[in-house]
Amino acid sequence: MKQTAIFPGRYVQQEGALRGLGEEVARLGKYALLVAGGTAAESIIPPHKPAWSERFNVTVQRFGGECCDEEIERLATIAKNRKCDVVIGMGGGKVIDTAKAVGHDAGARVAIVPTIASTDAPTSAVSVIYTSEGAFSRYLFVPRNPDLVIVDTCVIAEAPTRFLVAGMGDALATWFEAESCRQSYGENQCGGLATLAGYSLARLCYDTILEYGVAAKASCQQNVVTPALSHVVEANTLLSGLGFESGGLASAHSIHNGLTRLHGTHDYYHGEKVAIGVLAGLFLTDKRSELIDDVYDFCESIGLPTSLSDIGIGGASDEDLRLVAEAACAKGETIHHEPFPVSPDAVVAALKTADKVGRDRQNEEIE
Ligand SMILES: [Zn+2]
Repeated sequence: MKQTAIFPGRYVQQEGALRGLGEEVARLGKYALLVAGGTAAESIIPPHKPAWSERFNVTVQRFGGECCDEEIERLATIAKNRKCDVVIGMGGGKVIDTAKAVGHDAGARVAIVPTIASTDAPTSAVSVIYTSEGAFSRYLFVPRNPDLVIVDTCVIAEAPTRFLVAGMGDALATWFEAESCRQSYGENQCGGLATLAGYSLARLCYDTILEYGVAAKASCQQNVVTPALSHVVEANTLLSGLGFESGGLASAHSIHNGLTRLHGTHDYYHGEKVAIGVLAGLFLTDKRSELIDDVYDFCESIGLPTSLSDIGIGGASDEDLRLVAEAACAKGETIHHEPFPVSPDAVVAALKTADKVGRDRQNEEIE
C-alpha cells in the first residue's frame, strides 16, 4: 500500500514577512523573475524593491491576466533570456499557478508570495491552466512543490475580507474530502494513499477555521492582524494546501467544477462555489444532522454561501442542475473517490436539498 505526502520546501508566515523576502530568496538564487499581480505591482513591490535589490537581481513582469500557455511561454522566455535562477509569483491564484509553471519551464527554483488567502494554491505542485479566453484547459502537475512560500499577514489583512472568507470555503472542503478518500482508499493528488500526516493536517484545517473563523473575519475587516487571523491564514494556505494535496479530493471540488458550467456562477470565487459543494456533499454522503448543523452554522457565521442564489444561480432549472451534476460525475472527476458509486441523479438530489435547507435557514433568520 503506497502512501505519499509532498510539501513545499519552506513556509514562512509573519507580519511584515516581505521585509525578509530578500534574505529568503537569496537562499535560492541570485537572479529572480518576479511575476506580479496588479496590487503587488502597484503598491506592494515599490517600497520593498530597493532592499530586495541588495540581496538579488530582480526583473519585475506584470502578470498578463490569464494562466494560459501563451503567458507561461512569454514569461519563461524572459526568465531564460535573463538566466533567472528563481521565479517569484506574487499575487492571487492565477499569478501563483503561472509562476509555478514558468519556474518549471525555465528550470528555476520557485518562490510563492500570496497577497490574498483565498485558495490553497500556494503550497501545491499543481497549476490550473486555462485557455487565453479563460476557459478551463487542464491541470499541470509540476515535479516539485514550490521551494519557498512566504505569507505576509499584514498584506492579507489589508486585502478585501471576501478573499479570506472564500479561502475558508476552500479550506472547509479539505477534511471532508480527505475523509472520503480515507474511507474509499482513494488516491490523493500525489499518487498514493494519504499518510497519517495528510489526513491529520486536513482535520486540523477544519478544526482551526471553525474555532477562529469568526474572529479572523472581524480582524480582516479591521485590517489588523490577530492570532486568530494568523491561524486562519495558516489554515487556508498551508493546512488546506497540504491537506488537499496529500489527503485527496472528492465530491466538493467535483461539484464546484460542475457549478462552473453555469454562467451565473462566474462572478463568484472558487472557495464560495466549493462551499456549496461541501453543503451538497453533506447530503450526498449521508452525514449526521449535528455535523450538518455545524457546517451550516459556520457558513452563516462568516457569510459563506448557503443557497444556490448566493452563488448567482437561484433560478437554476432542473436541466441546469443536471448539467452541473453530469459534469461533476465526469470520468476522472474526484467525486468517484466517495466510498460508494455516485450518479448524477444523486448529485442533483443533494444540491436541491442543500439549497432548500440553506434557504429555509435564511428565512428563519429573517423571521
Ligand atoms: Zn480548492
